[in-house]
Amino acid sequence: MSKMEDYIKDVTKWNKELRDFLDSEDVEQNNELWQRLDHFTEIMDGINGPLDIEALEKLQKQVDSLHSEMENYFSNRQQLGNIYMNESYISAGKHILPPLPYDYSALEPHISGEIMRLHHDKHHQSYVDGLNKAELMLQNARNNNDYSLVKHWSRELAFHGSGHYLHTIFWNNMSPEGGGKPSGALLKEMNKYFGSFEKFKSHFTEAAKQVEGVGWAILVWSPRARRLEILQSERHMLLTQWDTIPLLALDVWEHAYYLQYKNNRGDYIKNWWNVVNWKDVENRYLKASELKWKPF
Ligand code: MN
Repeated sequence: MSKMEDYIKDVTKWNKELRDFLDSEDVEQNNELWQRLDHFTEIMDGINGPLDIEALEKLQKQVDSLHSEMENYFSNRQQLGNIYMNESYISAGKHILPPLPYDYSALEPHISGEIMRLHHDKHHQSYVDGLNKAELMLQNARNNNDYSLVKHWSRELAFHGSGHYLHTIFWNNMSPEGGGKPSGALLKEMNKYFGSFEKFKSHFTEAAKQVEGVGWAILVWSPRARRLEILQSERHMLLTQWDTIPLLALDVWEHAYYLQYKNNRGDYIKNWWNVVNWKDVENRYLKASELKWKPF
């Protein structure tokens, strides 16, 4: 086998390993890294004979640039902690801030980059920190069998836990390619219970507008009733309907829109529909709806 064939074989193998790694990391399919890798795979698949010097140099350049992108990706991951690589579950106090699945400014003009940066880096981070602290304090309480502050830390656990989990859903519920309406099974289910997508949208919009004070509007699947429902959550630990799985969450805390929309929550909600990532909501629905309990 010639040196060039060896090289191409190595690069092809490396390409496959990268794809497997991105798969195992659950990197979003619309991530730029995937697009680069897809393009590269096409090039590799298109090679069906010896390359001339020019083509080989071009290939080497692409390998180099992809390699440095992967290095960047690895080092960003390491800054986030090595949880993705080593942990199959989150032990007490080990939550980390999930990376935003797109650029801060990707949802503009509907939601400004300034809001997204503040909302994700500051507000969400403080929920992660608060949740970790509450878990560790409750772990301490268990270890010392001292539950004198359990009410306080349970409240913190609910407040910061809901904050962390709902924001984690919220980021993925949106996409620069969002908007429109859902399709398939989720749309059918909406038609079945709400009458139509338009009726669902009106109900959800009003529920979000009329959350008393701060909180969320949340589309849920109820495994017990075996259908969708729309809930309001004041703040986000009060009036929570447990035993439900959030599918679509809209943040109507002021920090989510005030810098851009001032007190005009209605416009923010109206424009927010343009960035809803229905594919993500559908996937959440498909997975969540596998859960079935005895109906009452
Ligand atoms: Mn928020």
